[in-house]
Amino acid sequence: MVVVMEERASEEEVQHVIAQLTDRGFDVHRSTGQLRSVLGAVGGNRAFDIRLIEVMDGVHEVLRITEPYKLASRTFKPEDTAVSFGDFRVGGDEVIVMAGPGSVETEEQIAASAVAVKKAGAKVLQGGAFKPRSSPYSFQGLGEAGLRLMRAAADAEGLKVASEVMDVTHIELVSRYADILQVGARNMQNYTLLRELGQSRTPILLRRGISATIEEWLLSAEYILAGGNSDVMLCERGIRTFEGYTRNTMDISAIPVVQKLSHLPVVADPSHGTGLRDHVAPMARAALAAGADALIIDVHPDPDRALSDGAQSIFPAQLDRLMAELRIIAPAIGRSICLDPVASRGWAPPAETAH
Ligand code: PEP
Ligand code: MN
Repeated sequence: MVVVMEERASEEEVQHVIAQLTDRGFDVHRSTGQLRSVLGAVGGNRAFDIRLIEVMDGVHEVLRITEPYKLASRTFKPEDTAVSFGDFRVGGDEVIVMAGPGSVETEEQIAASAVAVKKAGAKVLQGGAFKPRSSPYSFQGLGEAGLRLMRAAADAEGLKVASEVMDVTHIELVSRYADILQVGARNMQNYTLLRELGQSRTPILLRRGISATIEEWLLSAEYILAGGNSDVMLCERGIRTFEGYTRNTMDISAIPVVQKLSHLPVVADPSHGTGLRDHVAPMARAALAAGADALIIDVHPDPDRALSDGAQSIFPAQLDRLMAELRIIAPAIGRSICLDPVASRGWAPPAETAH
């Protein structure tokens, strides 16, 4: 860190700051200019609270020069990290699409979702079995029964599974069924959960907190990495702002910012990012163009009757169209995307709900 002293700081004040820093394990180098002293402090603890120095007499300004996170930073690991599950990699040349309903509702619903996801060429079936709902009266998910249905539907279509783990007591259970464990926005700062997930060897998709800064988000990733799980994906899912026309404000700029600060792959969620079906495709296109390594999209065979996230869920035909657009954009930025859409043999939605 760099400590800039006030012009009028006394020698005693400068010495006091130096002593404090030295006590905290920093090596201090002093430059004395004509007007003021500047102290360069190296070493010490990355988690050191710079405000302790800022409030000291004679201090004008304190600037941090190293990030408060280490394992998540590009300074620590300059090359990109790719997170692998089975034959798929998030963070390589290929952009992975994960899609599925907000929650697993019935066997038919999740089977139809898996068919739609496979047909569109996406690789991962996402959906919630444990749902963190803002209201305790909303549908809370099917729990283990939902995970079982989702695994079966995914296996029938050759898809991987991503699902949320809400609580430390569910890690083992969800890991038995899912290839990717999602940490929800509301749990991004559940440090007990993050620490436990550090012990897991299942890839983690860490969703950005509803009002989390990028630094807080990367510090949360650090908890998982520090526990020994290096397979962390960061998911931008929109943040709360003053804007009311969308459910959240999709922070597209977070994608290149995070990629500059961190080697971890970035996943973009245009469904939660906007909360409205009409805006999902434009934001998905933008996120891909901005450099997202994967997209996670809510799709439902009958979104108007969905038990959660219906307004932001697109119809299967909209997913097909979006994938076709993404396949045009990807090569323009040196990426490929799900090149092998496969005609599915499975369950089809009733005609009146197909759009
Ligand atoms: C979800 O995926 O349905 C969900 C609750 O997401 P988030 O945690 O980002 O709100
Ligand atoms: Mn949701």
